[in-house]
Amino acid sequence: MTAEIICVGTELLLGDILNTNARFLSRELAALGFDVLHQQVVGDNAARLEETVRAALGRSDLLVFSGGLGPTADDLTKETVARCFGDEMRFEPKVLESIRAFFTSTGRTTPANNEKQAMVPTKGGWFENPNGTAPAVWFESGGKRAVLLPGPPSELEPLWKNAVRPFLQKGQHRVLESLVLRLTGIGESHAEELLGHLFKNENPTAAVYAKTSELLIRITAAAPDEQTARAVCRGYAQNFYRLAGEYIYAEGEEGLEYALVSALRQKGLTLATAESCTGGLVSQLVTNVPGASEVFGFGFVTYANEAKQKLLGVSGQALAKHGAVSPQVAAAMAAGAARAAGADVAVALTGIAGPGGGTPEKPVGLVYMGAARGGQVLVKRLDLGNRDRATIRLAAAKNALDAARRLALGLPIPGAVNARDIPD
Ligand code: ATP
Repeated sequence: MTAEIICVGTELLLGDILNTNARFLSRELAALGFDVLHQQVVGDNAARLEETVRAALGRSDLLVFSGGLGPTADDLTKETVARCFGDEMRFEPKVLESIRAFFTSTGRTTPANNEKQAMVPTKGGWFENPNGTAPAVWFESGGKRAVLLPGPPSELEPLWKNAVRPFLQKGQHRVLESLVLRLTGIGESHAEELLGHLFKNENPTAAVYAKTSELLIRITAAAPDEQTARAVCRGYAQNFYRLAGEYIYAEGEEGLEYALVSALRQKGLTLATAESCTGGLVSQLVTNVPGASEVFGFGFVTYANEAKQKLLGVSGQALAKHGAVSPQVAAAMAAGAARAAGADVAVALTGIAGPGGGTPEKPVGLVYMGAARGGQVLVKRLDLGNRDRATIRLAAAKNALDAARRLALGLPIPGAVNARDIPD
């Protein structure tokens, strides 16, 4: 079955709000086994909306709308779709009652124009909206269906989960399930070389998405039921583990910081960070994870040389001789952070995030990472390229998260050298 999403609202066309409903509905419809072949955005204009609905009816089995169900004159989705489905709206006293109850519960009286929202399809049906005034409604005609949802996500999402999804699920004989593999330490082109043939399969499908310093592989299977679809995804994932298992750090939606906190917890270790060019980004990512306080207590932001000396004990001589962006200073920062915090694992970053400040010897995107565990200190040179400042900082931070995770798990850090082998 094919589905199409139509989001109504001039605000969306003007770029005033981000179309998060389209994303939510796309994912949800895919999970129900619908093939979403089109997404559209249309302003609050009856003629253009009607044109959009008729085009969608010509090619899709299910039309899902968001927005334009409000009480004002420019909220015209219901009337327009009713016309296209050959239905008529009728007044439903139960809806008015629940609208009145909604206003009373929020200490207000019901404005007269909200009564318009009590109009529901004659042949189709409606679902009560406990979080707002506009009920969701549906139309059906000639094997085609439309479901109309209010625009605010706080109303749309619960309505979808509690009423619309079960309603649509009844007619579906196919589900889609996805499994996401998260990789780091491998670039997109290397992944294509190694795994390219696995992205050409029909069922399950596999697709790769590049994020800063990470790749996500989404495996999606269609099957008659969830259990079968999951088993198909799991079976196909084995191909990726066989060929690129060393790069796969986790499955699912949670990023490197979650994998790091979980590794530290699992091994009973603590972490400290020392950051120069990332200005605290590594600590911020780590503390995004609920429960990070069990494993993380000290994050040093040492932007100035003086801070590196005072807080981390980096020697003035090393700073003067090699500069703040050097393997020697990165190593001293990591060792100093571990010592000052009494932490088991420490990571440090010092580099040039740009856009200015680069030289031929030390270009923008050059970052040195120090990583300490026990008595051992490793250093890795990261060449993150002449990219924008935010990307360089995020890429550096993610490298540090992965290095700390590897140290915690006792895995090697590819490309890192022992600090003892670097001349003073
Ligand atoms: P209401 O019944 O509350 O009047 P409505 O169905 O008329 O809702 P709109 O007036 O189109 O919805 O939008 C109301 C608000 O909902 C917008 O100001 C915006 O904050 C949010 N919204 C609308 N459409 C979207 C969308 N596609 N993605 C995310 N948010 C949206």
